[in-house]
Amino acid sequence: MRVAMIGTGYVGLVSGACFADFGHEVTCVDKDKSKIDALERGVMPIFEPGLDALVASNVRAGRLKFTTELKPAVAEADAVFIAVGTPSRRGDGHADLSYVYDAAREIGAAVKGFTVIVTKSTVPVGTGDEVERIVAETRPDCECAVVSNPEFLREGAAIQDFKHPDRIVVGTDKPRAREVMTELYRPLYLNRSPILFTDRRTAELIKYAANAFLATKITFINEIADLAEKVGADVQEIARGIGLDNRIGSKFLHAGPGYGGSCFPKDTLALLKTGQDHEAPLRIVEAVVSVNDMRKRAMARKVSNALHGEVRGKTVALLGLTFKPNTDDMREAPSIPIITALQDMGAKVRAYDPEGMEQAKAYVSGVTFCKDAYDCAQGASALVIVTEWEQFRALDFARLKSTMERPVLVDLRNVYQADEVARHGFAYESVGRPRQN
Ligand code: NAD
Repeated sequence: MRVAMIGTGYVGLVSGACFADFGHEVTCVDKDKSKIDALERGVMPIFEPGLDALVASNVRAGRLKFTTELKPAVAEADAVFIAVGTPSRRGDGHADLSYVYDAAREIGAAVKGFTVIVTKSTVPVGTGDEVERIVAETRPDCECAVVSNPEFLREGAAIQDFKHPDRIVVGTDKPRAREVMTELYRPLYLNRSPILFTDRRTAELIKYAANAFLATKITFINEIADLAEKVGADVQEIARGIGLDNRIGSKFLHAGPGYGGSCFPKDTLALLKTGQDHEAPLRIVEAVVSVNDMRKRAMARKVSNALHGEVRGKTVALLGLTFKPNTDDMREAPSIPIITALQDMGAKVRAYDPEGMEQAKAYVSGVTFCKDAYDCAQGASALVIVTEWEQFRALDFARLKSTMERPVLVDLRNVYQADEVARHGFAYESVGRPRQN
């Protein structure tokens, strides 16, 4: 099948490359000329493990192309995916759908013959109806079906997730569109990945319900972690104790500094707005959003506590800046409010991240960026693990101790065990576990 992917960001690029790998002919379109130029030179605009090789092999095979020209790509396509951003609208938290609607207008003006227009961007319930209206308004004679096909991939494991999804959700009541979608996902269907066909509105809401549920699970264990700290219990044992219950499941039960990233924060906010607009307020999600918001600065207080309140003038070293490992994505990363809170307390901040430092420079100021964990720790009164990159899991404590002002480790991802850190003479603070001095 011929596919046009409108928007070559995280989702568009990964989905486009994977569809090409399935054997489809894919053209990835983006307005950002520098992004397309870079892709044509084989330079990836994002860090995602395995993506450069996947893109290169499909470009070589002639199945994957990049362009800024939407019109010819759409005119030739059997399916056109909208994979543009849907950030929070400034001021009210609603999803900003202007990119989606602009894309719909451009697609409407360019389609030829029967074309399935697929919304892959995360969009509030009812957006498909509006896309359909815009396309029909732009091209009253258009033979199109507008389908919802939300994406569930995780950054850092995006290719694996796209190729081995827990499920594929397709929202349409048009048999012809269903045939096209079945054909597109045939390789996954043969792999026995479940395809859930449903109506468009339900598909749109499934995506938000899934993200809100996962954000709730994280926030729940974070609050349990706070209680565990107060009562001398261990949140990791609690997570294991409840996660072994199949009804609960062990994933997304890792206590930490609060969720961030390009999806959960904006999607929970957008869902709240949808709930309010339809007089069906989502009180649980409201609580999740506010608890998570407060948590990030609270992590800076944890650092302050580890330093007995003596933060002013001290150097704090942060390991990991991205919202999770294996990505360079800094959107809504907990490191950002943690850094500003530490700076507000008068700390000097040094930081190191394996992939995210270039991106981080756009989000924080006054930070000294370092070349590795040990360089970062130099002269620091506290070392804080914010993101659990693999390379921070086996730190050389003797080397750290020799370079730090004071041996204090604040482990916001519970990477280490208190007794092993204590053996190296460090004071240790983690999340939801008994404190060691
Ligand atoms: P992104 O910001 O990385 O990429 C969006 C791209 O679309 C940009 O490169 C932009 O230049 C381009 N674009 C915007 N309007 C365009 C137009 N009219 N024509 C051509 N290109 C255009 O966004 P992303 O992270 O890939 O997210 C895209 C959507 O997928 C969002 O709705 C997001 O919520 C959803 N989603 C993201 C993830 C994730 O992990 N990032 C996972 C699942 C779903």
